[in-house]
Amino acid sequence: MKKKKIIIIGGGPAGLIAADTLSLVHDVSIYDRAKNIGQKFLLAGNKGGFNITNSLQGVELTARYSPEGFMNKALAAFDTIALRQWLSDLGISTFVGTSGRVFPEKDLRPKDVLNRITARLIKQGVQIYTEHEFVGFDNDKHVAFRNEGKELLIEADYILFALGGASWPSTGSDGSWRSVFESMGVTTSPFQSSNCGINIRWPDVIRQSHAGKPLKNIRLFTANREVKGEAVITEHGIEGNAVYPLVPVMREMLQANIPATICIDLKPLNTEEQLLQRTIGKEIKTKDYRQIFNLSSVELALIKAFTDKETFLSLTGFVGSIKKLTIPVESLRPVEEAISTIGGIKTEEVNDDFSLKKYPWIYAIGEMLDWDAPTGGFLIQGCFSMGNYAAKSILEKE
Ligand SMILES: Cc1cc2nc3c(=O)[nH]c(=O)nc-3n(C[C@H](O)[C@H](O)[C@H](O)COP(=O)(O)OP(=O)(O)OC[C@H]3O[C@@H](n4cnc5c(N)ncnc54)[C@H](O)[C@@H]3O)c2cc1C
Repeated sequence: MKKKKIIIIGGGPAGLIAADTLSLVHDVSIYDRAKNIGQKFLLAGNKGGFNITNSLQGVELTARYSPEGFMNKALAAFDTIALRQWLSDLGISTFVGTSGRVFPEKDLRPKDVLNRITARLIKQGVQIYTEHEFVGFDNDKHVAFRNEGKELLIEADYILFALGGASWPSTGSDGSWRSVFESMGVTTSPFQSSNCGINIRWPDVIRQSHAGKPLKNIRLFTANREVKGEAVITEHGIEGNAVYPLVPVMREMLQANIPATICIDLKPLNTEEQLLQRTIGKEIKTKDYRQIFNLSSVELALIKAFTDKETFLSLTGFVGSIKKLTIPVESLRPVEEAISTIGGIKTEEVNDDFSLKKYPWIYAIGEMLDWDAPTGGFLIQGCFSMGNYAAKSILEKE
């Protein structure tokens, strides 16, 4: 087979795994605008543990991704087991945590994983050009980069874009490339926060005395979705693993101008009856609430802040609030702070192998496409699966 010249633009998980597969056969170069590749990958673990993938497989795995079915082929071809095997080949063994999340063994950090991937790419001859910003096309096979104030044009047989979403723009992924694709007739959607905190207008007492405090073993729910887990009160609202999966529902309500609320069950292991049983035969005053229902100071403060006086003073009303405390949601935290984003190139614009329908020699992979998945290792898994699948599709081309 004649060696092809392939350029990969974006050195995150999607681009790196594509480079690994393709460089076994072809000439591969990675271009990235940042000073170093993989800057967002290095943040993994920054918010709640470094989940490199998850232990789910088959339909349980694919069900975590939307739009439904969009990534099924890529996930089937390179699933969570395949990713763990790939990591193992790099000398990174993994283990399944209690939540089904998969972590690298021996406290390996994202930096260690990135170093091992990079070392292998270099060994396989991949050229890595940092501080090269993709700025557009001269024609559709000549890609224009800006480096040290100069523009240079690179020609390639295949071009893989793996430019990421728009969260944490300081990592290099800021979504500013959207206009280039729009000008080529490839439609995109604006980026929006996903897997992010939500803004709540806290009364001063919550913001001043309770920001930073955790809510452990809670159940958060909306009309049609519930999540058990943990959250943390922030100055702006609430965030954490129990919040993120509810973000799509919140976003829909906010966009439809429906008053958005989130409900907290502070004692998911107890029914209202069980909680009330604790009070039988006792004369309960409000000052006893904390002890009798085993509430933390922040939990009590939340109930006080979001119930009326009558409800707070009545035992059944108070217990009802422990099980369902309804809190109005103002908005989502900004894209800059989100763990991931939705938006980017619309999924209708790509074939099953993530080549662009209008330009089949150009591929778009990873978070730069408009898909969504929850935290728990599904984001990185999705990016690796897409990168692997796109690369294999190119290998099969001739
Ligand atoms: C705080 C935090 C914690 C996270 N933790 C986890 C976790 O534990 N598990 C998990 O599964 N996911 C996690 N994620 C999400 C995960 O990191 C991303 O989904 C993943 O990195 C996306 O990979 P990607 O290859 O699509 O893009 P990115 O990793 O964003 O890489 C895109 C690359 O493209 C480059 N680029 C962008 N524009 C240009 C341009 N114009 N020219 C040249 N180069 C450009 C960027 O510099 C960047 O290097 C976390 C994210 C954050 C922010």
